[in-house]
Amino acid sequence: MSAPPVPEVRAVVDAEAIRSWLSLFAAEVARNRDLLTRLDAAIGDADHGANLDRGTSAAVSALAGDAALSPRTLLKTMGMTLVSSVGGASGPLYGSLFLRMAGSAGGADSLDAPAFAAALRAGLDGVVARGRAQAGDKTMYDALSPACDALDHAVAAGNDLGHALSLATAAADAGRNATIPMLARKGRASYLGERSVGHQDPGATSVALLISTAARALSGDVSQ
Ligand code: ADP
Ligand code: MG
Repeated sequence: MSAPPVPEVRAVVDAEAIRSWLSLFAAEVARNRDLLTRLDAAIGDADHGANLDRGTSAAVSALAGDAALSPRTLLKTMGMTLVSSVGGASGPLYGSLFLRMAGSAGGADSLDAPAFAAALRAGLDGVVARGRAQAGDKTMYDALSPACDALDHAVAAGNDLGHALSLATAAADAGRNATIPMLARKGRASYLGERSVGHQDPGATSVALLISTAARALSGDVSQ
């Protein structure tokens, strides 16, 4: 009898996978800090890169202490750290995203693909509860919502989580790009009215990093 094939992707999202996702996200935020700041300089106050980098670095330090944390406690620590260390709109918004994900994860040691997709959608619901953004308002919603839709469809069609997240990454990237011609209706950029048109939204750009790092972490590719 031959040995069962070694799976190429993680079948479930356990604490190790979540930890790897959150630290990859922090690394990508640090690497893209200047880009995020430049985008926010065009339609905001030039602090999105600094804001998010401060929060994700603080969260990685907070997570480093305990090797035995569950998905829920890791996501909760991430959310609470972002709320407490990030000034500006994105702190409470990203905080809600991760805190709602933690709530959805419950006490499970690991999440399968449908449970991870449900947790990400709970995170989207948290962003909406906090910021009231709708599709087309030129916010992080415009990358996160299509990513959730793509993930749900791909998981329902029976794809493994790694492949489903690569489809979600493409959807988030397309959603991010689609913010360029939008007129901002929420957040600081909305103060600019028509002058917000023609610029990529910084929050949608960081959300695209969040989804692409999930795809990398859950496929076991943690090269930075
Ligand atoms: P601030 O606007 O307070 O300086 P950041 O620069 O860190 O905060 O974050 C700006 C991003 O926050 C925007 O690019 C947008 O994607 C997101 N954002 C702002 N307001 C909302 C909202 N009400 N709902 C969803 N996202 C929002
Ligand atoms: Mg800003």
